[in-house]
Amino acid sequence: MSTNTISKVPLLDLRAQYDTIRPEVDDAVRRVMESCGFIGGPEIKGLEEEIARYSQTAHAVACASGTDAILIALWALGIGPGDEVICPSYTFFATAGTISNNGATPVFIDIDPKTYNMDLHLIEKAITPRTKAIVAVSLFGQCADIPSIKAICDKHQLFLIEDAAQSIGSEWEGKRSGSMCDFGTFSFFPSKNLGGAGDGGMIVTQNAELAEKARLLCNHGAKPKYYHSVVGTNSRLDALQAAILRVKLRHLDRWSEQRAKNAALYNQLFEGTAVGRPYHDPRTRHIYNQYVIRVTNRDGLKAHLAERNIGCEVYYPVPLHQQKCFASLGYKTGDMPHSEQAALETLALPIYPELSEDMIRHVAQTVRDFVANK
Ligand SMILES: *Cc1c(COP(=O)(O)O)cnc(C)c1O
Repeated sequence: MSTNTISKVPLLDLRAQYDTIRPEVDDAVRRVMESCGFIGGPEIKGLEEEIARYSQTAHAVACASGTDAILIALWALGIGPGDEVICPSYTFFATAGTISNNGATPVFIDIDPKTYNMDLHLIEKAITPRTKAIVAVSLFGQCADIPSIKAICDKHQLFLIEDAAQSIGSEWEGKRSGSMCDFGTFSFFPSKNLGGAGDGGMIVTQNAELAEKARLLCNHGAKPKYYHSVVGTNSRLDALQAAILRVKLRHLDRWSEQRAKNAALYNQLFEGTAVGRPYHDPRTRHIYNQYVIRVTNRDGLKAHLAERNIGCEVYYPVPLHQQKCFASLGYKTGDMPHSEQAALETLALPIYPELSEDMIRHVAQTVRDFVANK
């Protein structure tokens, strides 16, 4: 099949997605504008109920971002100065930034190089008398082995938060991401599988008391209004975002399935080449928020694709234990070899659901040309 008529493939094309759902989205926006109910109200309540159902959880609390969702989950668990929280080094910054923002100390561990999720065997070695919690991440859309991590947490009486910003709808042995721990946290950043028209987030839990704490903290600790039992903050989701997200949630499974189909086609096209394909653990439902390959000359491939107008991105170029802001924690290069290697070799390719088969073939061929001629 000829792919030489394609001149450009972006990493993500939100415009293409909007074109497929425009009447529904526009109606939802108009509905909120007509009501002029911008804070709280039926759209928020509706989205919270729908996300709770979707994620197999009993409670959902909307908040302002995926970052705030982690921040508030840690806060609601009482984590603060003097406490240590274990998390992977290879993840988006917010996983650890929120631990620091609560006054606690992030303790980084390395990843399993196949899944990019935290290496279970390293957890117990990182536990000290100060350890209070683990923030596990389900990276790139593949649920981490949360049941095994939860078993370690139960043994040592630690709390478990799953940073499920990239994994809404993903599953571990049929159980949804976010549902198997004390708190699961979602992001509605526009590039996530369920992305809003701006920032947004959600905290989910099976525990009514924890849900109530989180809700209180998101609303200045006020219940009823103007009566403050604790000091909280303002972290809310806009009703406009909730209305848009409710429309998009109806399409989420179809989109995530299309991403998985796109991944399967890439996998087939990269078979027998020097391109390292993403590993899909058969125990998970992978929703492919990112399709991440590994190559030895990653920066060369990145430049090659950029010259040919193919979008790609490095997630993530610097593991968290090597970030300047965490220098005082005393980690050094070599401490987390798998995270460091991944940071040098990984590259995310376009995987969004609206990609045509020709576009995928064009991207794959352009990658193959590079690795073959290197
Ligand atoms: C996107 C993301 C976040 C933060 O979400 P925001 O909504 O951008 O604040 C946290 N953790 C991970 C792993 C993410 O990918």
